[in-house]
Amino acid sequence: MTSTIQLVNPADEQALQEVVLTSASDADRAIERAAAASASWRRVAPADRARLLRRFAAAVDADVEHLASLEVRNSGHPVGAARWEAGHVRDVLEYYAAAPERLFGRQIPVAGGVDITFSEPLGVVGVIAPWNFPMPIAVWGFAPALAAGNCVLLKPAEMTPLTALRLGELAREAGLPDDVFQVLPGKGSVVGQRFVDHPLVRKVTFTGSTAVGKQVMAGCAQQVKRVTLELGGKSANIVFADADLEKAAASAPGGVFDNAGQDCCARSRILVQRSVFDRFLELMEPAVTGLRVGDPADPVTEMGPLISASHRDKVASYVPDDARVAYRGSAPSGPGFWFPPTVLTPDAGDPVLREEVFGPVVAVVPFDDEDDAVRIANDSEYGLSGSIWTRDVGRAFRVSRGVEAGNLSVNSHSSVRYATPFGGFKQSGLGRELGPDALAAFTDTKNVFLSTEES
Ligand code: NAD
Repeated sequence: MTSTIQLVNPADEQALQEVVLTSASDADRAIERAAAASASWRRVAPADRARLLRRFAAAVDADVEHLASLEVRNSGHPVGAARWEAGHVRDVLEYYAAAPERLFGRQIPVAGGVDITFSEPLGVVGVIAPWNFPMPIAVWGFAPALAAGNCVLLKPAEMTPLTALRLGELAREAGLPDDVFQVLPGKGSVVGQRFVDHPLVRKVTFTGSTAVGKQVMAGCAQQVKRVTLELGGKSANIVFADADLEKAAASAPGGVFDNAGQDCCARSRILVQRSVFDRFLELMEPAVTGLRVGDPADPVTEMGPLISASHRDKVASYVPDDARVAYRGSAPSGPGFWFPPTVLTPDAGDPVLREEVFGPVVAVVPFDDEDDAVRIANDSEYGLSGSIWTRDVGRAFRVSRGVEAGNLSVNSHSSVRYATPFGGFKQSGLGRELGPDALAAFTDTKNVFLSTEES
């Protein structure tokens, strides 16, 4: 029997459309087709593979408005953000379109012959994406994987498959051969699990919760399957007394409430030096209360709804009636999974300081000095992202080196640039995506020695 999922617009709770979920046997057939296609895809000349990826990028570019409108309705992303996300897919494809012709090996000096390394594609790669950034996270997997000569199966999250399905159509329109890039909407426990268990899938890139990531890693271990994990976060935004406080306070809400806080890089703990703690909170208030929360289709909207009713319940559980709320922003009433941006000043030991809320809730905490700031920032099982605000360059580097996280920014909240590596320390993940070395995660090194001895 065919099973389906009814998609819902999170901004108004209206039914959007039904999507058929891929069954385990259909997933297996898709994997087998991908494995069959892989023999010829890996042999496509590098310049031709590059050309196909550039055409795919051009097809995405021509479809940015359409892709953005799908994301507005399916995920509730503000339209400005959704346009950026669609444009990011184009940019990542263009960036990795340059890779097939630059996938160099090495020639290593050895006695008695010539030694050369090759970066061989793995075969079939399964990309498992979460619902929070359906387009960017998908392309971080599929673009470098395709560039390296792999066939890709993309499984979007159950609730947010529409842009992934459209990207599958665009790939086909751009001329990517059938079965080289397939999109399989479906359940994690069914399709995602087949990626983990099926021996013809040689690599899984998983982005999602740390709990499921651990299961994926354990499952992949059964076949020593390659795995990249991008998991949760509880990142710190550290504000020193010598910082440009006005700028730090004005930008702090953007660092955590972007995508309604449903961002693995959300700076959901703001650590502020004690001497400027009250002043910082005062300065940040208008930036929080002034945040434009509402209809994601309206271009002035800065924050949309949460993804679902159950996720809103989870977020709300971090703000019980007796929570120490410093102040809150606004949110529409009526239908939609709305939650106002909320600033807390919790006691030590409050779960909100340790657990990933994945919603518009931020905890502000005082610290005494540099060592104290680094200690608090590192008091987490996660280590994905973070920011440091100071005018002291030496301190900026000392603290950057001290914080155990994969992606830090000084005097800004930037985390993701396609040309630079992205990934987590500790339980935030394993491996890196993006940047110049991403193809290493989708290839195995083969060493070939050729004897030059006379026979
Ligand atoms: P999730 O773990 O519930 O699901 C992620 C994906 O895994 C979905 O596609 C889901 O269908 C699939 N899945 C579920 N069970 C599976 C199984 N047994 N085998 C294989 N696949 C399975 O996560 P979510 O709620 O969709 O996403 C939110 C989480 O993702 C947050 O913790 C967030 O921090 C994390 N995230 C991390 C990054 C990063 O780059 N580090 C980026 C975005 C989101």
